[in-house]
Amino acid sequence: MRTDNRVLNEEEAFARVPVAERVLLLPHCLRPSGDCPGKTTREGLQCPPDCPHRRRCPIGRLRDEAQRLGYKGVCVAPGGALALRFVQELRPAGILAVACYKELVEGVQALAEAPAERPVVLTLPLLRDGCVDTEVDVEKALRFLRLGTPSAL
Ligand code: SF4
Repeated sequence: MRTDNRVLNEEEAFARVPVAERVLLLPHCLRPSGDCPGKTTREGLQCPPDCPHRRRCPIGRLRDEAQRLGYKGVCVAPGGALALRFVQELRPAGILAVACYKELVEGVQALAEAPAERPVVLTLPLLRDGCVDTEVDVEKALRFLRLGTPSAL
């Protein structure tokens, strides 16, 4: 079980990573399943630039903010394997990972076992999981994204 101090340390460590060396990982189950026009590709879910839900969809809001801040990349993945491949290809110094608790535990463990340099990982568990139409605390995710930037609160 994580203590409040440990969470604070993770936030501080993440804040010290330059934004250009950070990536954002999101689960594709955050998409609105009924009317999402996104396309699933080998690189994860791709959102069309003219998606009408972009401003209210958590994926659209968080992806747009990460890009505005200058993040190295964003991956909206259907599972841990694709997210891990994305991280291995981009080799970021910092990762903000949003996922269900089980995926986060497995992902952090996989990164710890990887031979490459270990990035700083800041995790945010879903508020409601279940694989479809899941929920995240978007305001908290935005605060995490902005840590260490001029946009930080
Ligand atoms: S912004 Fe949301 S609703 Fe629009 S394509 Fe992306 S995931 Fe789907």
